[in-house]
Amino acid sequence: MATGYYGATEDTAVATGTGPVVDYRSDTLTKPTPEMRRVMAEAEVGDDVYGEDPSIHALEQTAAAMLGKEAAVLFPTGTQSNLAAVMSHCGRGEEYIGARNSHIFSAEASGAAVLGSVSPHPVEINEIGTITTEGVEAAVRPDDPHHAISKLLCLENTVSGNAIPLDHMRALTDVARRHGLNTHLDGARFFNAVIGLGCGPDELAAPFDTISVCLSKGLGAPVGSVLVGRADLIKTARRTRKMLGGGMRQAGVFAATGTYALKNNVARLADDHARARRLADALRELNGLEVAPMDHQTNMVFITPHETDNAPLRAHLREQGIVLSAQAPAIRMVLHLDIDDEGVDRTIEAFRAFYRGRLH
Ligand SMILES: *Cc1c(COP(=O)(O)O)cnc(C)c1O
Repeated sequence: MATGYYGATEDTAVATGTGPVVDYRSDTLTKPTPEMRRVMAEAEVGDDVYGEDPSIHALEQTAAAMLGKEAAVLFPTGTQSNLAAVMSHCGRGEEYIGARNSHIFSAEASGAAVLGSVSPHPVEINEIGTITTEGVEAAVRPDDPHHAISKLLCLENTVSGNAIPLDHMRALTDVARRHGLNTHLDGARFFNAVIGLGCGPDELAAPFDTISVCLSKGLGAPVGSVLVGRADLIKTARRTRKMLGGGMRQAGVFAATGTYALKNNVARLADDHARARRLADALRELNGLEVAPMDHQTNMVFITPHETDNAPLRAHLREQGIVLSAQAPAIRMVLHLDIDDEGVDRTIEAFRAFYRGRLH
């Protein structure tokens, strides 16, 4: 199996079936729509390191206003945005606390430790994949020369496609505040959480000093994340971005797609969530396949086929032009802008055909 890197398979974009490829591996796979390409072509640009790119200014102002915060800064990726945030909150010998399974601990190459000399402090998670107030309370270290200095609580929402309710977010950040810690939200799928919870973006952002939002996932922009928050922290993050090599020049060509996405592609996330529910409900009917329940499902469905079915199921779907990640035992299916109702119908049919007559 040619697995070059995370989630990549030889299945990639191979349309062997009829109709367009339906690719469930990630919501990062969306391609810019013709409208987005028009916006890119028409974007006014300048040198952003000189502070002269009007399309980037517009994006940063739009993001800050939507989240009810003072300022924002554009990053090339969510990884760099999270890293610059942690480095703005924490210095050498300080630590950030978060859920053991969070992306920032497990999937960002330990950047904060390597490049920031900031110590990760992972906390155990509960059954819905988030940390508890007791867990945070116990993780904050006393002022003692033996210990790193606890400085930041870093949360994530959504977590594996599950939107974490506001009251739980607030309970966790309250513990942090009581101990004088700052708060950061890795909101790679911030707007999926907002739509999933039915709250305002400002409400979800309120308990946090900084929030990182990916534009290149469910929102459908080709590149970019924005870090939004307190003006003093964003100012530091802008300097850190330069240090990390993320000071870009005429990046307004893609910033403009971010503004477009914030204005046009937020409400429609509800369509992805409805399709995820429809898909989960249909697959749950099948014998021989487990579908993970979720309290606040957004755009993901996790399925677990029998161990021996995993590879044949993927091969069968691939023949119909339906691509799943080569994961086991659970496979993550992600709904996004490039999967429509017809694609979901085709997927349900293909699953049914696979399981029809199969004995379990
Ligand atoms: C995708 C993701 C990131 C990082 O974003 P990149 O743009 O891929 O660097 C950070 N956190 C979470 C939870 C993510 O899903």
